Order: sequence, then C-alpha cells, then structure tokens
Amino acid sequence: MSNKIEDRGPQSMRRKSTATNAAPLPAESESGAQPGIQRRYQEITARIREMLASGALGPGDRLPSERTLAERFRVSRNSVREAIRALAEQGVLESRRGDGTYVREPDGESLAAAFVAGFEAQRHRIAEIFQFRRMIEPPIAALAARHVSSQWLDRLKVLVCDQHQRLLADVDDADLDVAFHLEVARASGNQVVVEALNALHEILAETRSSFLQTRERRSMAIQAHLRIIAALEAHDPEAASEAMRAHLHAVEDAALGEAQSQTQRG
Ligand SMILES: [Zn+2]
Repeated sequence: MSNKIEDRGPQSMRRKSTATNAAPLPAESESGAQPGIQRRYQEITARIREMLASGALGPGDRLPSERTLAERFRVSRNSVREAIRALAEQGVLESRRGDGTYVREPDGESLAAAFVAGFEAQRHRIAEIFQFRRMIEPPIAALAARHVSSQWLDRLKVLVCDQHQRLLADVDDADLDVAFHLEVARASGNQVVVEALNALHEILAETRSSFLQTRERRSMAIQAHLRIIAALEAHDPEAASEAMRAHLHAVEDAALGEAQSQTQRG
C-alpha cells in the first residue's frame, strides 16, 4: 500500500513496519516465546471480554473462528488460541470438540463479575493511554506545523483519503489511524519523537481497538484529521496542537463515554 512507512532506525530493525499493523506481526507465529506474545494475548482476552460486556457476544453464542478473530485483531492464530484457552480456563468460554468455541451460559454472578472486571480494567487502561497521548501528541503536532513540507502534507492527505475509502467499504482502518499519527510525528522532523512513538506502538494501539469504533466515530476522526492537516498546512502550531488535543478528547469521549473523560479533563 502506498502509505506503508519504511523506517530505518535501529528500533525498526527489531520490530519492522510498526507503523502499519495491517500485516500480521511476522515473527509471532513462529514461536510462542516472543516477548510480545504475552501482552498480545492478554489484549485479545480483554477484547473478547469487551465483546461480551458490550453484548456483541452473549451466553450460548458461538465464537467466530480463530482465523476470523486473528484477522480482526490483526494477530496470529497462536495468540487467539492462547486467549481462548485462558478464557476457557476462567470458565468464560468452552470448547466443544469438533464444534468450535462457545460462550458459556452464566452460572451465577461470578461470570458476570468476571466480565465486568475485565471491562473496567480495560477502560482504566485506555483512559491512562489517552491521558498520555494528550501529553505528547499536541506538542508534536505543533512542532510538525513548523516543519511540515508539502510532501508530508500530501502523504497525510493520502492517508485520510484511504481512511475514507475504508469507512465506505466498512473495513477496519485502525492501521491507517496509527499511520496518520506517526506521519504527523515524522513531519515534526524530530527523529527521536518518531522512534519514541514507534517504541510505544503496541501500547498506543490499544486505544484503537475496532470495538471502540463505530462508523460515526470513524467519520468524526476523519474530519478531525482533516482539521489537523489544515492547521499543519497553515503552519499554525497553536491550531495544530489544539486540533490534535480536540481530536484525542473526542476519540476518548467516544471510546469511554462522556461522563468518565469529563472528570479527567484538566
Ligand atoms: Zn486519529
């Protein structure tokens, strides 16, 4: 894809193409001993719990196939299998031989409590990640407004066009959002900023779960990205910073609900 970001720093030697997680993470399927796999399967576990908490999956429902989940979460089938095994051990799911995996019928309050606990833990973590993003991304956007070239502006515009296409096609665009924010960082001209964001990629990606995204929210995000581009094009650091800040607030509000993030504003 045209927006694939090649990064040549030492960081990216270790974790290639962190900018676009459209492709499955390559090393993961080869061995269960990858350092990231533990975190990754915990994240998948949390996302499956989210599906349960949101009602997307209910008791007695059959879980989508490992392959479908692997594609949706953009991880290997190994990670999905690990997550399913963990949830089965916790009594949330059950595997029926030759017939896939099912959500167990609730057998008392413990099961409901397990769902809620998982969901709340996930909310708390997402709120912390957004708090962190609000600390770093607005100043990065301001810096980008000072240094951005027309070439970078074109790249950003292409990314937003691609996002719009994906929205129309109803295809997940979380990787494009990641790429957009990284391109803004790269536009700042500060290589350390880019390396830092690359290093934090896995953490930051948690705020882009497709389950946090509805069509309307994705459409809002596209509009916000266009406002950021306009501020960068005007070389207006303050406007760029404000546009980024507003974007992160809006995404957080959408992800966690107005009430919670209002209390964390400051
Ligand atoms: Zn965004």
